Order: sequence, then C-alpha cells, then structure tokens
Amino acid sequence: MASTPTTTAGSPICAVCESSNGVNGGSLLRCKRCASTFYCSRSCQKKDWPNHKMPCKAIKEKRDKEIKEERDFNRHFAAMGVTSQTRDDVIHAGAGIKIVPTAFPQADNGVVYMLVPQVTLPLGAASFPWVQLPITAALGFPLQFVRIPTGDPTLSNEHMDQLTMESDWKAAEFGQSIIGGPATGSVCVVRVDGEELHMNHVSALVTFIREDLKEVRGVKAREAKGEVVDRREISTRLITAKRFVEVFQRIKQAESANNAQEKKVWKGVECPVKLD
Ligand SMILES: [Zn+2]
Ligand SMILES: [Zn+2]
Repeated sequence: MASTPTTTAGSPICAVCESSNGVNGGSLLRCKRCASTFYCSRSCQKKDWPNHKMPCKAIKEKRDKEIKEERDFNRHFAAMGVTSQTRDDVIHAGAGIKIVPTAFPQADNGVVYMLVPQVTLPLGAASFPWVQLPITAALGFPLQFVRIPTGDPTLSNEHMDQLTMESDWKAAEFGQSIIGGPATGSVCVVRVDGEELHMNHVSALVTFIREDLKEVRGVKAREAKGEVVDRREISTRLITAKRFVEVFQRIKQAESANNAQEKKVWKGVECPVKLD
C-alpha cells in the first residue's frame, strides 16, 4: 500500500484511501510528527503507520535540521547586527559560517585571510585592516571581519564596534573601538585559523566584551579625568583566556537553563578557547 505521496494537483488527499475530505466531511488530519502526510481518519492513519513510520522519521529529522540551521543562521546575524537581506552572500555550512568563494577570491575553505592591510576603511572595501580582531587574537580565538559587498553600507553595527576594541594596554586607544564609533556596513565574521565558528561563540564573545570588560572600556574616561590608571594590571587581570572560558561556561549554563530549545543549541557548542 502506498504511503507518503499525498497530493494531487496541490490539494492533500488521504494517504490510504485517497479521499480529499475528512471522514466526517471536515478537513483531513495531518500527521503531527512530519506534518507532511494527510489522512481522512485515525483509522486510515493507523493502517498506514507500518508504511509511514520510516519516511515519517526521515522527513521529521530533515525538517528539524532545516529549522535549526535557519535559527542558527539568523542568530548569527542577530549577534553581528547584520540584516538577513544579505544572506544570499553567505552560505550556512554546518554549525559555522562560510563566505561564498566567488564573492571573495581569497577565501579558502570558507576561511578568509586578509591579504592587503588597509589603513583606512573605505566603504567599498571587502576586508578590514586587521588580520585578527585584537581581543580574539589575545584570547587565541582569532576572528576577522569580512564585508558583505551587497549589504547595506549605511547600516550601523554596534557589535562591530565592540569586537574591534583595542586590547594592547600600551596602545593609545586601549579599551576603545579602533574604528571609533559604530562602523557602517554589513559584515560577516570568520575564524582565520580554519576552526569551526559557531554563532554562540560570537554572541558569547560580544557578551564578554560588553559586560565583563567594562573596566577596560572605562580606562580612557578615567584617564581623561586625570586619574592614573594601571593599564597593564587591568589588561592582565581581565583579558585572559581563563576568564573568557569562565564567562563562556556561565553564559552557556544560563542560556541553557532558560529553555529547552536553547539547551539543544548549546549542547553541541564547545568553548572556542582551550586552556592548557
Ligand atoms: Zn482515508
Ligand atoms: Zn508522519
């Protein structure tokens, strides 16, 4: 007996008796698990179950995977403050983000290396003047921005501002965004060492910088008031791999405790920073 094919000319029919109405003249019932097979009645559904069992499981798994990928993709862009109108420029690959190679000739296996350092950041530029974002380099979790050429060049990107924070305590701009104020344009972030980059890595990093490096971000303001600040002490105390790992685990636990969906997403996400 046929199982899964259920539609003719777009309208659903019972997978068993091919009726286009429910048994009491109402609408057809839909399999709750796969949401893709219809029945006129509970009895037709029961009869079909031995045949439907296998395809039902496969369809459900495929759908769950697509839903998760879509959600992860949007989470990534949300974390980066990038609008989803630019998603055609990037493809989602597993748990990470890849750049479409044709748009970025220097891309290799989804990892983009900066070839020509730029002092300034013209709006049309495809990449940014760092081989690695400063904080991520300090943590051993090297990330880099790549501009999405067809993205909105006027888009203000707050997270980009945070991710470009200067981490070298000797630098004049210590604790400030190197790009100075919210940068514009749509950007994507990639890992330059070829390791997997998960959206949750990026969102944890943004949280780490925004909330746990507040003291670093406040240094210039204190100095402007005439205070003598021990930058080196602040830097070595706060910008450490050990601390990032702690913060990462804290965020992972807190968000996993929030709801089952978050828990599932976080389950497969390991901290990108490893301690020796
Ligand atoms: Zn039927
Ligand atoms: Zn089903």
